[in-house]
Amino acid sequence: MSAPPRGRRTGREPPVPPRKTPPHVRWGLTTPAPAPQPSLSLPSRRPGSLPPVVDRVRTRDKVVFLTYDDGAEKDPRFVDMVRELRLPVSMFLTDSVVGPGYGHFARLRSVGASVQNHTLDHAALRGLPYAGQRAEICGQQNKLRSRFGIRPRLFRPPYGTYDTTTLRAAADCGIAAVVLWRATMNADTARTPPEPPASTPATSSPSPQQKPPPRPCGPARPACCA
Ligand SMILES: [Zn+2]
Repeated sequence: MSAPPRGRRTGREPPVPPRKTPPHVRWGLTTPAPAPQPSLSLPSRRPGSLPPVVDRVRTRDKVVFLTYDDGAEKDPRFVDMVRELRLPVSMFLTDSVVGPGYGHFARLRSVGASVQNHTLDHAALRGLPYAGQRAEICGQQNKLRSRFGIRPRLFRPPYGTYDTTTLRAAADCGIAAVVLWRATMNADTARTPPEPPASTPATSSPSPQQKPPPRPCGPARPACCA
């Protein structure tokens, strides 16, 4: 018996695997999106001081900081997307919105997303008494600790509305920084607010009075709430 000519299949060889499509192509991206290594550290806070309010991070890198609010959307393909693209997403979860769906966020956490605090019930905190604000923030800290064994260090006030009582309550609940946002999007829209005046520092701690009033939104469109 003679050996088959070079290049001819004999039928006993393993099939040639198809060329693997890069993850960024599978997800419709035209250029690779290398995941950056986390390089930011939270500012240190003196005992008794209020946590900083952050809505901008000074950087020369062309990056956006991805956050995911509330916890209403539970598309399993998003877990695949975060895993395959190694997206560094921060999830700000509201207990009453997540409901019985914490398993989805545990899966997201297992592929690299971080879990942060967005209150128990998505209440607009500004103007509420200290006890009520503390209950919203510390209550969700306790929920997330029991679910994930962690105590988040970042807090996002629902609708972006807060006051100094919020900051005091957040500090007392172990929050290191309050994080706002500069753009929102959902499945078919994206909104970017106008740039602040040139005098606004790159890293700012806006006062409550500077924040826009909360926009009405309901549970049917959670992405608008932030
Ligand atoms: Zn929200």
